[in-house]
Amino acid sequence: MVKLAHHLNDVSMPKKIETIAIHGGMDYTNAENASIVPPMEPSTIFEHKKKGYTEGDRNYIRYSNPNRDQLEELLANLEQGKACAAFSSGVAAITAIFQALHPGSHILLPVDLYHGSRVLIQEFAAGWNLDYDFVDTTNLQKVEEAMKAETRLVWTETPSNPLQLISSVEALANIAHKHEALVAVDNTWPTPYNMQPLTLGADLVMHSTTKYLGGHSDILGGAVIANNEKGIFSRIRNIQQKQGAVPSPRDCWLLSRSIRSFPYRMRGHNENAQQAAAFLVDHPKVQEVYYPGLETHPGHAIAKAEMNGFGGMISFLVDGGAEEALQVVAGSRIIRRATSLGGVESTWEHRCSSEGENSETPENLIRLSVGLEHPEDIIEDLTQALSLL
Ligand SMILES: *Cc1c(COP(=O)(O)O)cnc(C)c1O
Repeated sequence: MVKLAHHLNDVSMPKKIETIAIHGGMDYTNAENASIVPPMEPSTIFEHKKKGYTEGDRNYIRYSNPNRDQLEELLANLEQGKACAAFSSGVAAITAIFQALHPGSHILLPVDLYHGSRVLIQEFAAGWNLDYDFVDTTNLQKVEEAMKAETRLVWTETPSNPLQLISSVEALANIAHKHEALVAVDNTWPTPYNMQPLTLGADLVMHSTTKYLGGHSDILGGAVIANNEKGIFSRIRNIQQKQGAVPSPRDCWLLSRSIRSFPYRMRGHNENAQQAAAFLVDHPKVQEVYYPGLETHPGHAIAKAEMNGFGGMISFLVDGGAEEALQVVAGSRIIRRATSLGGVESTWEHRCSSEGENSETPENLIRLSVGLEHPEDIIEDLTQALSLL
């Protein structure tokens, strides 16, 4: 990979996430009279030197290009990592991690996880000669018992999707490392603003940048971040470059633009979700609220220890079944009926109909992505939608 100026790795540079989000990966080496905003460079090819191409030179867009390099360095900096590979989607990033394992490896996955990750492993693992088991990663004894001689990866998501179970990344890393396995964390929900898994002992961090990092429901992307370019990461880089599920320069440019305001957006998501969760807990038509920011949440203490904020996602159960949940979702005025999450606009969905046939999600569960509208307006909309029950 062609490296840009690593000015943020310089000890004299600030390390606060708001500053990194704005300056990470930027090339200030020829700063005089330069553009403040980096240019978008769509070129697929780069001119060879007169003496010919040598390894490490820019050559062809799929191997490296200026916008992707800038984005990768920015994402690595945000996660306190040293290596990043950007992908065309979150699931392309997950696929690269699984394919980077040696055939015959065993993977442990959490019982509650992003539906797309479950489907991916169930449909493709056998073809890749990978074996897997699902385990409750909130229960460390069960994790210990589920480790096999061939286990090379423990996958986790905390809070999990959609039940918001909290697992300790630090504790999972301790167990995995004793067994010579790696820990990979899907950090899409917490984002590096709320959690930096590499600092807790994780080996790989994966993102769907489609969500909070993009933040405006208009970019598809993914990434894997690690502490160095060695070991499994070198195979992930190889998969990125040779299999080619890469983002376009335009998507990299737009994502990097969006990330500059991401820490302040995340702060707003955290605050609004905390208020919405407090409102829902007291609502007579709501049976259960899953949000780790609530002191009554069983994982609250771990979340408090390992996270800087509790995120913008809330799942809750309404009185009744699928029909009642759908009725509530249909009644919103501001909150949009849509899947996915992390946009500036609040969205919600009846999660089990969105997951489809094999969904294990309770049928009265609504998953809400709390946006950046004024919290009083969000709560007013929740009030009127729930009053229809
Ligand atoms: C959306 C999502 C993914 C998949 O990412 P895509 O960008 O849609 O491919 C993976 N994990 C989580 C937690 C997600 O929310």
